[in-house]
Order: sequence, then structure tokens, then C-alpha cells
Amino acid sequence: GGEVRFDAVRFGYDPEREILHGVSFTVPAGKTLAIVGPSGAGKSTIARILFRFYDIKGGQVTIDGQDISAVTQASLRAAIGIVPQDMVLFNDTVGYNIGYGREGATQTEIEAAAKAASIHDFIMGLPKGYDTRVGERGLKLSGGEKQRVAIARTLLKAPPVLVLDEATSALDSRTETEIQTVLRDISRKRTTLVVAHRLSTVVDADEIIVLDKGVIVERGRHADLVRAD
Ligand code: ADP
Ligand code: ADP
Repeated sequence: GGEVRFDAVRFGYDPEREILHGVSFTVPAGKTLAIVGPSGAGKSTIARILFRFYDIKGGQVTIDGQDISAVTQASLRAAIGIVPQDMVLFNDTVGYNIGYGREGATQTEIEAAAKAASIHDFIMGLPKGYDTRVGERGLKLSGGEKQRVAIARTLLKAPPVLVLDEATSALDSRTETEIQTVLRDISRKRTTLVVAHRLSTVVDADEIIVLDKGVIVERGRHADLVRAD
């Protein structure tokens, strides 16, 4: 499962100012959709609407054919995982940060879950590996390491739908490339919405939509859009 569908979605934060003017797209289960466009176009707003942070003014949003307004917040949170741009970590251990929100789970259980989800290899991405660094304090980590923690935390939920909201834009370019490789691997296996600034970071998305001022102005695969540039 995990098909995400926006059908003629209209939305504004204020009644007088519409931000999305009828946005439609379908992300088939297991596929990747990238949303690109200038700052202020409404990309993050689409992600927030999918999480139902806000109610839409028109149209419909469905996951696997179910209108999200008819789904409980809890099941919506279980269905969608988000890797944000710059997650704020607790000044606690890596294990705590990864497992935070899993009520009653001990560190051993969190580590076991991380292993079961086959994410322990890349959590820290260092030769010493997961076991020795999981007790380290989150605040001492580099940007790339913090982003690995954010990814691991999201994957531990094993959500059918993954939202990457400019998940690498806060990183230096070498670390960005490295984390993008990790994310590409992960997104192959599940429905993914990628919010990105640049076309170059979403080369192998199944579909790319270009959003400008709340309207989809172009859509296609990477090669089509680069030709049109
Ligand atoms: P993008 O992610 O493409 O940069 P956003 O979705 O963040 O764009 O924002 C789209 C528009 O909505 C912008 O004009 C922005 O200023 C406005 N906006 C975003 N969040 C809010 C908010 N909480 N309240 C009012 N306006 C907002
Ligand atoms: P991002 O797209 O990286 O999430 P934004 O620039 O859209 O960052 O917004 C950062 C925060 O500020 C968000 O929580 C957003 O809701 C809020 N925000 C953005 N634009 C406005 C606005 N015009 N009025 C009120 N809040 C806003």
C-alpha cells in the first residue's frame, strides 16, 4: 500500500490568500514523486497538508483511496514518516534520539528494532559502527551524522509513505551526496515524496512536478524537464 493522491487541492493559511490553487498528483505505491520549485511556491505546505496539520479548502487528499480527513491522527502518523531538513536532537544519546516517542521501549529494544529494520549499518556510517556510538550524545554529532539519526528514527516506524522535506539541504555538498545515496536506497522500497530545491538532486524520481506560486507549471521525468530548461 501507500498510494498518495492529491486531487484539485486548494489551500490558504489565511482566508484572503490562497497558497495552493488546485494541485493534483498521484504517487503510486512504492514510487517516488519529487516536488521542486522556488522558495515560497508551496512545497512544504503540500507536506504539511499530507500530515493534516491544516484542513484544505477544496479538493481531496487520499492515502490508498482513503480520504485523510476520515483517518485518525494516530494512524496518519503511523502511515507517514518525515525526514526534516534540520531535526533538533535531544541532548541525549543517539539511541534515545532514535527511539524517542516509542513509549516504554528500552534502549536494548530500540537497538534490536534498528537491527531488524536493517538500518544499523548506516546509522552512524563510521567503521566503528552502530554499537559503539549509539550511546554517544546526539549534540556532539556532525550534520551528516545527525541526519542519519533523523533517518533512522523515521525508518524505525517503517512507514509506507516517506516525506523527505529538503532533507539534505542543510549539509555541506560532500555529506549531502553521501546522505542522498542513503535516501535513494531507502526510497526505492516505499512511496516517497521528496521536497527539493534543485532538479539535480532528484534525478531518478519516477515523476517530478514543478510548483510555482501554488500551481504545477511542469511535470515529467528528469530528462524531460532538463530538455525543457
Ligand atoms: P516552499 O516550501 O515552496 O518554500 P511554503 O509551502 O513553505 O513554500 O510556503 C508557501 C507560501 O505560504 C509562502 O508564501 C509562505 O510565506 C506561506 N506560508 C508558509 N507557512 C505559512 C504559515 N504558517 N502561515 C502563513 N503563511 C505561510
Ligand atoms: P520550511 O519550508 O523549511 O519548512 P518555511 O520558510 O516554510 O520553512 O517556514 C518555516 C516556519 O515558519 C514554518 O513553521 C512555517 O509554518 C512558518 N512560516 C513560514 N512562512 C510564514 C508566514 N508567512 N507566516 C507565518 N508563518 C510562516
